[in-house]
Amino acid sequence: MTESLLEVRDLEKHFYERDTLVDRALGGEPVSIQAVDGVSFDVREGETLGLVGESGCGKSTCGETLLRLQDPTGGTVRFDGEDVLDLSGDDLRSFRRNAQVVFQDPFSSLDPRMTVGATVRQPLDVHSVGTKAERTERVCELLERVGLSSDQYDRYPHEFSGGQRQRIGIARALALEPDFIVLDEPTSALDVSVQAQILNLLSDLQDEFDLTYLLISHDLSVIRHISDRVAVMYLGELVEVGPVADIFESPKHPYTQALLESVPRASTDERDREIETLSGDVPSPRNPPSGCRFRTRCPSVIPPEDVTIDQREYRQIMDVRERIESREVDLDSAWEYVADEQPSSGGSSLRSLLGDDVREDPFRERHAEAFVDRLEERMLDVELSGSHAQTVRSALHELCYEDWEGAASILAEEYESVCEVVSPALQDDRTHPVACHLYDQPDSVTANVADADVSAPVGDTVRTDGAESD
Ligand code: ADP
Repeated sequence: MTESLLEVRDLEKHFYERDTLVDRALGGEPVSIQAVDGVSFDVREGETLGLVGESGCGKSTCGETLLRLQDPTGGTVRFDGEDVLDLSGDDLRSFRRNAQVVFQDPFSSLDPRMTVGATVRQPLDVHSVGTKAERTERVCELLERVGLSSDQYDRYPHEFSGGQRQRIGIARALALEPDFIVLDEPTSALDVSVQAQILNLLSDLQDEFDLTYLLISHDLSVIRHISDRVAVMYLGELVEVGPVADIFESPKHPYTQALLESVPRASTDERDREIETLSGDVPSPRNPPSGCRFRTRCPSVIPPEDVTIDQREYRQIMDVRERIESREVDLDSAWEYVADEQPSSGGSSLRSLLGDDVREDPFRERHAEAFVDRLEERMLDVELSGSHAQTVRSALHELCYEDWEGAASILAEEYESVCEVVSPALQDDRTHPVACHLYDQPDSVTANVADADVSAPVGDTVRTDGAESD
C-alpha cells in the first residue's frame, strides 16, 4: 500500500467565543464551537482524498488547521514523518513551501492591485528562489501550463474570468513545486461549464507533478470527479472513509446515504428511486447533539430492543422529543385555538382553569383533550400506531401544565436510543470504516454501550432501512 504523506490524528479545533455582549461584559465562560472535534485520517502519496460534507461541517477549518493556517486545540499532524505542529523556523518555512492551498473564491483570494505575473511570482520572491530572471521565466512557464498565456503576465485580475482567475490561483500554488495541496472548494464559485475544465486541469497537474491533494467540497459530483478516496465529515467528525467507488456505490453511513440521495438524478430509472433527502440544517457546533451527532436527522436511529416501531414513526417521536426537550412547542397558540373553538371555556383564562384535578373534572378534561389534539395536529406529520400514539399523547398531556420535564421523561423512558447515549467511532478497518451503531463498533464503544445499559445491535450489522449490509 502507498505510504501516507499526511497523518492526521485526533485533530481538534475549538473556537472560543463569548456568547453575547452581556456575557463579555460579565466575563462569563467563553462558549466553545467544536468546529473540528477529533478527526483522524491519512492522505497517501499521490492520491486525492476528498473531504465532503454539508456547509458548516468543519471541512475548511480542518484543512486550514492541518496546514497550520490556524492553530489546532488538540491532536497531531505528521507530514512526511515530521510533526507539523512542532515545526518552527526553517523547518516551518520548508513545510509551507511543500504544502500549499487553493481557495474557493478566485475573486477575493487575488490582490486586485497586483499583476498576474507578480501574483504568481510572489511565493518565489518570498522564498528567494533563483534569480529574478529565472523567477520570471518560471512564472511564464506556469501560466502556460495552467492554460493561460505568458503574454498575460502584466494584466490585472479584473481582466480575467472566474475560471481564468482560478487558473492563476493554481499557478501560484504550484510555483514552489509543492508535494501537497489543499484544494478548498476550488470550483464552487465557478459556472458549471468551467468546473470540469478546472478539475481536469488539477487532475493533469497531479499526474505531471506527482501531487497529493486534499480536496474539500460540499459537492459530491466534484468529489467523485477526481478523488481516489473519500472522507465524509459531519458536524466536526468523520463518519465514513473509503475508496471513491465504495462510497458512491455502497455507502454505509446513513448520512452518506442521505447526501447521495439528495443529488439530483440524471436518468429516469434513478429518479424513480425513493428519495429520502436530508431534512433540516446541520445543528450548531456550539451545542452538538449527544451520542451520534447525526441522530437528530438520521432516518435509521436504533430504537430500544423491546420497542417494535416503524422507522418513520420512530423518527417522528424523536423529533417530538427534541422539540419538547428544547421547549420549542408553542403552547400559547394551542390554548388560543382551544379557546376560539370552545368559547364556553372562558377564553385565554382557560389555561389557569386547569388544576391538578383536571383528570377528575370532565369539563376541564375536555379542554385538555382539545389542547392535546391541537398539539398533535401541529406536531405530527406521521400517524402513530396503537401504544406509540398513546405514549406521545400522554407526554403532550403533561404540557397542559407546562411540565416540560415530565413530558420529556415519558418519551425518554420509552424511546431512549443508543444513538443518543453513546458516541460511535470510526472502525479500525483501514479500507472502509464507518462510525455508526448499525455496524460493528470498536471495543471501546461497545464497552460504553454496555456501561450505559442501552440496547444496540452491537456485533450485528443490522440495517433498519432494509438495505444490504456487508
Ligand atoms: P465548512 O468548511 O464545512 O463549511 P467551516 O470549517 O467553515 O465548515 O466551519 C465549521 C464551523 O466552525 C461553522 O459552524 C463555523 O461557523 C465555525 N467557525 C469557522 N471559523 C470560525 C471562527 N473563526 N470563529 C468561530 N467559529 C468559526
